[in-house]
Formats: sequence, structure tokens, C-alpha cells
Amino acid sequence: MANPANEARDKSREESVFDNEDDDSSDTKEILTDMTATPPDPPSKRSMCGRCGRPAKVCLCPYFPEKPLDTSTCVYVIQHPNEESRSLRTVPILFNCLQQGKCCVIRGRRFSEVGHPELTAVCRSPNTLVLFPGPEAIDISKVPPLPPDSQSGYNLIVIDGTWNQARSMYKSNQMFCQPRQVQLCNGVLSEYVIRTQPTNSCLSTVESVAVSLAILEKRPEIQETLLRPLRALCQFQLDHGAAVHHSKEHLRENGLVYRPKSRPEDS
Ligand SMILES: [Zn+2]
Repeated sequence: MANPANEARDKSREESVFDNEDDDSSDTKEILTDMTATPPDPPSKRSMCGRCGRPAKVCLCPYFPEKPLDTSTCVYVIQHPNEESRSLRTVPILFNCLQQGKCCVIRGRRFSEVGHPELTAVCRSPNTLVLFPGPEAIDISKVPPLPPDSQSGYNLIVIDGTWNQARSMYKSNQMFCQPRQVQLCNGVLSEYVIRTQPTNSCLSTVESVAVSLAILEKRPEIQETLLRPLRALCQFQLDHGAAVHHSKEHLRENGLVYRPKSRPEDS
């Protein structure tokens, strides 16, 4: 027989999976609050999936491709340090869908030749592109294919952070200004943002990479493969009521959009 108090508690815990995924202190607080209304229950550590890093209940692994995508392009995600701890971050999707060695995540705000010789070399390579919009950026679909005898594919640098963080990182690191600057011009909109307010720049990191890789590799199916786990991630949210009030603010705070404005709590 269902116990309404337990149901309420379970619902509350389900929501906490999404709201405070990386925050143990919130869990503790929640459990303490619950104890006043329900019989004591041993607090159990939520089991996490070792592969996708998500709580087991909302594991994304079934949505990853059976075999990682074989791409010639190597993706370098330059991640703002605050981005790593955000719940629902989308970069692990890339990690799990691309072949080993084809998705490198480098965290930090400032990058120097001395501290990051590998990244410096990547930035100097004529085969490197940096995905960042601006008047100088060329449409990524106009980038010519590399010659067939080329030893490797393109390197694609993307900056993962809020819009302000990304802009600041791009402007303050000279090395990111060396590669050809490219942008997405095909008007792809984030299907998660379109429900509230469509804007061209609102793509999550995984969406930006999905579109870019599909274009560079000339394989439209790549986009679909990379977006499948992202859709599942959002569906889990919807199923648990977390996105019923999916305002732009909500999406922004859950890392599902390429944020067009700063979030003061991040700085
Ligand atoms: Zn998993």
C-alpha cells in the first residue's frame, strides 16, 4: 500500500537527483528535513554510474552509441573551472560518444605556452579551428576538406562556459586567436531552448560539437548520435517534473543552453 508520506519523500529525493546532483550537503539537509515527517531510514549513498557519472536511476549509457563514433576530427573542449562542477553538464556525453583520444577536456581560465605546450602546438597547427562566433569567423560549412593524404583530421577547439566566461577566455588567451575562427551559420536552434525563447546562439556544448562534427566529417548522422543522450537527459528532467517550469533561467542553470548572459553566482 502506498504511503503518501513516503511518496512525498521519494519524489523529493528524485528531484534532488536533478537539483543537487553534486552537492552532498543539500542531501544531508534534505534527509534531516524528511526525518521530521517520516520514519527513520538509513541514508544511503546514491549509486552512481561509473561510466557516465550520472546517478544510476538516470544513467545515460543506454543512449550512447554501441561503438564510439569514429571521427577524423579531434575535439578540444576548453572548460571553465566552474563548468566542471555543474550538474547536468553535457561534456561527458561527448567523452562517451567519441573515440578515445578524440575528445580532450582541458580545464582552466588562462593558458600559457609554458604551462600548456601541447595546447600551444594544437593552436599553431594549420589544421586547427576554433569555434567562436564573431565578425572574423567563417561559416564552418565553408571550411575546405583536408587533402586525402592528410595525416590527421581537423582539431576543433570549443570553449565550455557561460557566454561571458567563454568570451573572456577567448579574448584573454592569445593562443586561441591563432587558429582559424569558425562559427555555425546554418541556423540550428537548440530544441530545448526553442520552447521558451529561440535564439541562434543558444546551443549547449554538445550540440555545438554535434553540428560542427556532422559538417566537418560530412556525416549528418553524427548529429543525431550525439543528441540522443542529450534528449534522454532532458526527458529524465521532464519525467520528474523538473522542467515543467522550464524557463530560460531553469535551462541555463542546468547547463542545457549555451548561455547568452552571465550568471553572477558563477563568478
Ligand atoms: Zn551510465
